Amino acid sequence: MLAEAASPLGIETVVLAERPDDAACPPAGAVVLGSPTSATDLAALAARADAVTFDHEQVGLAEVAALEAAGHAVRPGAATLELAVDKARCRERLAAAEIPVPAFVVLKSPGLSPAERLGALESFADEHGWPLVLKAARGGYDGKGVWFVAGPGEAQAVAEEVASTGVDLVVEERVAIEAELAVLVCRRPGGEAVVWPTVETTQSGGVCRELLVPSRIDPAVLASASEVARRVAEKARAVGVLAVELFVNGGRVLVNELAARPHNSGHWTIEGSVTSQFENHLRAVLDLPLGDTSLNAPAVATVNVFGGSDAGDPRARVGGALAVEGAHVHLYGKVPRPGRKLGHVTVTGHDSDGVRARAWAAARALGTPEAEGTGARAGEDSGVDP
Ligand code: ADP
Repeated sequence: MLAEAASPLGIETVVLAERPDDAACPPAGAVVLGSPTSATDLAALAARADAVTFDHEQVGLAEVAALEAAGHAVRPGAATLELAVDKARCRERLAAAEIPVPAFVVLKSPGLSPAERLGALESFADEHGWPLVLKAARGGYDGKGVWFVAGPGEAQAVAEEVASTGVDLVVEERVAIEAELAVLVCRRPGGEAVVWPTVETTQSGGVCRELLVPSRIDPAVLASASEVARRVAEKARAVGVLAVELFVNGGRVLVNELAARPHNSGHWTIEGSVTSQFENHLRAVLDLPLGDTSLNAPAVATVNVFGGSDAGDPRARVGGALAVEGAHVHLYGKVPRPGRKLGHVTVTGHDSDGVRARAWAAARALGTPEAEGTGARAGEDSGVDP
């Protein structure tokens, strides 16, 4: 989607991909085959580019930092990227900057014995109560690497398993989430920043199923989400899009996690905003003026397309989705598997119920299984264990 946005601006893209059939390859101008954790492969990419940016976070931080040190324009830089890659560093840095986050403690690995780890879990639970939420500091996504644990036995089993992989563990209070929000900020190297209207996201089983803009929740809460996200982008010295995911609890917002790249919570901007997240990301990375982030319509809904239990290919069903009035279909060209995110559908219109209904109709026509809590307000089903 970045490469698609680059084309009309005359920007040539070179993609570093592990396999020639990666979804990013067909729209890219050129492909370097290699690994985003290999210093040699990253250097081969950087040698061909005026600026290096990211569309996922499974990159080698030390290798990216080395590119920067060698004088390449790496945007965002490794210091920003680390906050998106490492949940422990993210919590620590945001808390130190007095940005509101859930109560947490980080258990380092290695460094603690099993008895010390259990002691730390129990004393955190004494203060915040069971259940707790445990997160592997690195390597998780879409709810993988997140565990809701009801008591000490379960917590210790997860903690030991994570410790055995050498990854730190973030231990968190389980927040009674009333809604989940995402704010997309886009920032140029000099600090100029734009923000899109706050997005209401609906998760099921730890995975985002649906986006709605504008959100239906209290405008004062939305404004505070937007203000917090701007502060986060500044503190993180972000360049390009920074997606800030937040929980709403008791009228306040808590930052959950960051993505330092165009993000799924911003896919609605392709049709729903004057300037898409992809275009503004490119503009920021190349230090060009940023575009208007206003809405194109009073209401915008995006529903993610997932593989159904029949493992059918949504490409074979595209006609059914296109029969839904105003449905904009984006399929990523991935091999279908049950539960795999394969694309998204966006609908713009006059009212939130109407756009949601049409976006869901198109996503279902593509084989997307019903989400638990479909039709529910964001957050109603978000306590389900991933
Ligand atoms: P991932 O990196 O896999 O997206 P997240 O940290 O976003 O992991 O967690 C996935 C989902 O789990 C969140 O969207 C939210 O619904 C739920 N969740 C995460 N942390 C908490 C928490 N502290 N309290 C309650 N629910 C949580």
